[in-house]
Amino acid sequence: MPYTMTRSSDGQENGSTVTDGQALRILRRGLHLHADVAADKDHIVTITRTRLVLHGEDTAERRTVLTLRPEPRAHRLTRTQYEDLTRIRKAGEAARLRADGRIGGMFCQVPPSAARRLLGRGLLVATGGDQISIGVAGLLAIAGFEHPVRTTTPRGWHDPENGRLPTTRQHRRHPYQVPDFSSTAVCTCGFRAAADRRPYAAAFARNHIEQVLSAALQNP
Ligand SMILES: [Zn+2]
Repeated sequence: MPYTMTRSSDGQENGSTVTDGQALRILRRGLHLHADVAADKDHIVTITRTRLVLHGEDTAERRTVLTLRPEPRAHRLTRTQYEDLTRIRKAGEAARLRADGRIGGMFCQVPPSAARRLLGRGLLVATGGDQISIGVAGLLAIAGFEHPVRTTTPRGWHDPENGRLPTTRQHRRHPYQVPDFSSTAVCTCGFRAAADRRPYAAAFARNHIEQVLSAALQNP
């Protein structure tokens, strides 16, 4: 699964296509150079490097921004894929691509067909010899799977539970009902953020997933 890479620096922008292996190397190099690494809900990775350069007698700040957009769009993992990937990650350097197409390691045994799919989608990347690493897409997909954040459906106009007729905030189209358009962003990790309106809850959810995805990229 290739990436469309855009590089902008000094007001110039150019695009290219990079492979999953290259994307992982670019990420590792960026982190090595202390660049800021972030990902958004569409799994688009942004690597921002700011450095000081000499400018005559003075110094100037120069910023280079790389964005890596997965093509096609990233999709969700199945539970089996998630389990295979987490085992491979646990096996670390011990995870190897065998001659028969299997992936073997300390705690993992992935059959050839599944291994081929993980590699084909860039979730795994061959990194020299028979060694394999979790790819950029894999790091993000694991984090996305672990944080299925969603927003609750607002109740809208509804009958009051206590049976008493509402005296305030009445609406002509909904006589005897009370409004509630609040929604909460919830995630299985325990994250919760309540809001008056669903779009605000959606913004909280987006923030949460972007934090989680960005954190997942810090240790490839
Ligand atoms: Zn979460």
